[in-house]
Amino acid sequence: MHNLLWLQGASCGGDTISFLNSEQPSALSSFEVLDINLLWHPFLSREQGNDVLQIFENILSGKTKLDILILEGAVPNGPDNTGKFFMFHGRPFRDWLADFCNHAEVVMAVGTCAAFGGVVTGHENINEMSGLQFLHNQKGGLLGSDYVSRNKLPVVNVPGCPSHPDWIVQTMTAVLKGWLHMDDLDEFHRPKVFFSKLAHHGCPRNEYYEFKASAVRYSQQGCLFEFLGCKGTLCESDCNERLWLGRTGSCTRGGFPCIACTSPLFPDKQRPYFSTRKIGDVPVTLPLDVPKAWFVGISGMSKLACPERLKKNAVSSKWIS
Ligand code: SF4
Ligand code: SF4
Repeated sequence: MHNLLWLQGASCGGDTISFLNSEQPSALSSFEVLDINLLWHPFLSREQGNDVLQIFENILSGKTKLDILILEGAVPNGPDNTGKFFMFHGRPFRDWLADFCNHAEVVMAVGTCAAFGGVVTGHENINEMSGLQFLHNQKGGLLGSDYVSRNKLPVVNVPGCPSHPDWIVQTMTAVLKGWLHMDDLDEFHRPKVFFSKLAHHGCPRNEYYEFKASAVRYSQQGCLFEFLGCKGTLCESDCNERLWLGRTGSCTRGGFPCIACTSPLFPDKQRPYFSTRKIGDVPVTLPLDVPKAWFVGISGMSKLACPERLKKNAVSSKWIS
């Protein structure tokens, strides 16, 4: 039996909703298969008030073993680094959280807010939010860069806004089975198996991308990179191969640019969302692994070589043969 405590910091609850949409297996089946006992979840459990306090105290006294702690949502540290913006039973929530992290065998930060600060740290971060072990791409956060849980892993970050249900369930599986090791995590503590590809891989607009045949308005079929802000070529995630919502869709399949929601720098350093920042004609947000000079040269040649059918269809909302 594995005891799971799922907490929410500054959160919209989207990662829980995403987790509940898990299909292979379903969220409940995953609990059954992994032999998980849910100690408490803020809106899936019935306990409130003193009953929750008892659950918390049992963990901290060692009476209840904490096998896995999941946080969704950012850690509220304000005002003035007191943590008093979010109190639980007379204590800053972040202090409870830090104590649980010291008792947990494994800690997972689910969603970009818990991992890196995310949406609530946007702009000036006036509420002093952070992720559990990072603030954006800098190590630190609530727990500090040296933190490791009892199983000797740092906080395992499973970002996304929200995180994909597979990423959550499969990471839970790997940590509980002892299959996940330090080598399996990237520099931002994300499991490489999900975050070493790009959202661009598998996008059905790839052929348009290759020939720089671009959509100029939403609903058109062309690539969204040149004008409409798509960051799929620099966003580490396997969204377009794994797919979402019953494995039918993705942002770019739905005509929406990838806004790089799994990035430690999301949201501010990924803005603007819906137009492409450029210097002259060259997008500032170039693909991760492509040298700038090469990109400039090859994109001009690609445009010249673009087949007529792609030119027409890039700016059309339906296929023109
Ligand atoms: S729309 Fe985005 S993800 Fe799709 S091919 Fe263009 S740049 Fe790549
Ligand atoms: S395609 Fe990009 S914005 Fe959309 S869910 Fe994946 S990483 Fe996030």
